[in-house]
Amino acid sequence: MPAEIVLIPCLSDNYAVLLRDPASDTVALIDAPETAPIAEALESRGWGLSHILITHKHNDHIAGLAELKSRFGATALGPAAEAASIPGLDRTLAEGDVAEVGPWRFETIATPGHTKGHVVFHEPTEKWLFAGDTLFVMGCGRLFEDTPAAMWDSLSKIARLPSDTTVWCGHEYTASNARFCASVLPDDAAIAERLKKVEAQRAAGRPTVPTTIGAEKATNVFLRAGEDKVAAALGLPSGDPVAAFAELRERKNRA
Ligand code: ZN
Ligand code: FE
Repeated sequence: MPAEIVLIPCLSDNYAVLLRDPASDTVALIDAPETAPIAEALESRGWGLSHILITHKHNDHIAGLAELKSRFGATALGPAAEAASIPGLDRTLAEGDVAEVGPWRFETIATPGHTKGHVVFHEPTEKWLFAGDTLFVMGCGRLFEDTPAAMWDSLSKIARLPSDTTVWCGHEYTASNARFCASVLPDDAAIAERLKKVEAQRAAGRPTVPTTIGAEKATNVFLRAGEDKVAAALGLPSGDPVAAFAELRERKNRA
């Protein structure tokens, strides 16, 4: 039986994700932005909550952790490097650690950049990636705690995952991201087409998450920072993806 997956809008633009394996009744939550919508999603379905996986320490990803954990008796897992800032973790995870959760094996990938200890979770059999605030649809997280070089390396690790991997992101920032991508590469057909689709989805009140690695490699300028075309559009010499990535991130911060 396939997993049941619920995307839960939280706060103003966050997403949490619930995964349920019907055979074992395992229910895992990825990130805990707030309690109420997540508890409601569980209770309306009659589901328990066995595991909570946390991508990073920011309050909009952990504010519901303590209450959900105590109310549902879940086990909490999260980044080892941020354990001191995330009260209630039962198990810490670092690069390469595998979290066995019901039938799933979540491989931990360290993705410093947005925060120094940020991790993402990859389930290779299901082909899922839970990207937190590292990779967004047509965008990426702001660099609060690390360098462009570190974030570029983190995004490059993600880009090496199979193209048909489904990616859930921590926020709905897509409309703004898509406009930014189109402003950088106004003649890019794939970006223009996706911008139109995104605007229609948002106008209809639909989420743009999840995405795929393949779609991001095609239309996310941050993942395309190594392309000559992107360097040229930024007025930079080719062959320095970190410089192009840094310039993209700066421009998006000011956009
Ligand atoms: Zn964050
Ligand atoms: Fe966030």
